[in-house]
Amino acid sequence: MSDRPVRTRIAPSPTGDMHIGTARTALFNWLYARHTGGQFLLRIEDTDRERSTPNAVQVIFDGLKWLGLDPDEEPVFQFARADRHREVAQALLEKGAAYKDFMTPEELEAERELARAEGRVVRSPWRDRSPNDAPDRPFVVRLKTPQTGETVIDDQVKGRIVFQNENLDDLILLRTDGTPTYNLAVVVDDHDMGITHVIRGDDHLNNAARQTHIYQGMGWEVPAWAHLPMIHGPDGKKLSKRHGAQAVSEFDSMGYLPEAMRNYLAKLGWGHGDDEIFSDEQAKAWFDITDVVSAPARLDWDKLNHVNNHY
Ligand code: GLU
Repeated sequence: MSDRPVRTRIAPSPTGDMHIGTARTALFNWLYARHTGGQFLLRIEDTDRERSTPNAVQVIFDGLKWLGLDPDEEPVFQFARADRHREVAQALLEKGAAYKDFMTPEELEAERELARAEGRVVRSPWRDRSPNDAPDRPFVVRLKTPQTGETVIDDQVKGRIVFQNENLDDLILLRTDGTPTYNLAVVVDDHDMGITHVIRGDDHLNNAARQTHIYQGMGWEVPAWAHLPMIHGPDGKKLSKRHGAQAVSEFDSMGYLPEAMRNYLAKLGWGHGDDEIFSDEQAKAWFDITDVVSAPARLDWDKLNHVNNHY
């Protein structure tokens, strides 16, 4: 394990409300940074130009401020870093860790059908072709993902997850229009921001294997992974509006106090013995990411009200 100073982050996409799940991810990142004397950072993943709005960026700033989770540095905006992402794709090409794939849409479709029939993932013939044969037409840049063996993710919450490399196709890094894909942008940004622990929702668990291969391609140190379970509604289903509230601003307007939310959210999936109420100082002293449980947490209004009444 690395002895670099701990740096964590949240990387929300500014496309709407700040979900309570994002708030808890922020809290765990913040607590872990505070527990270890490290730093907690914010990256705004605004690469989806159609869905990202300045208003939603402000919602994230306001939500973090309300919760008292101040980042230690100025936020990083992902879209503004696209040239840097392309530079890394170029470096991977030069190292021979990536290649230009000139398959036409028709060729790709035919390969997809063949792969489906043969029960395997899509493979591009351009992986092994000389760049000298390059035709004059659009291409994507793909990572040469290992085709044999296993990729092991030792997740600090989920435990050991083993991916069979034969099930992974060659990841696209740059699209035909030269825009970077999500996995490339995240890895480059996390590396450049010196992130040591990637603590995020478990909907990104499969990306950890993909992202590991990009780190390895560049010879960069892979961060520690910790994938957090979702917050469900009291009925065990995905939390939604019909459960009463799901956005940070809704809890605020319902009269819940930020201290109570911090305390309650910390207890969702993590706890310190039977303590219901604890101070920020206690949470910072006690919190460890490896103590987070891997099963989904359930929102419990009675418990939240109990904690809120205490403050
Ligand atoms: N932008 C991603 C999301 O909002 C998070 C990416 C990450 O944490 O690596 O789901």
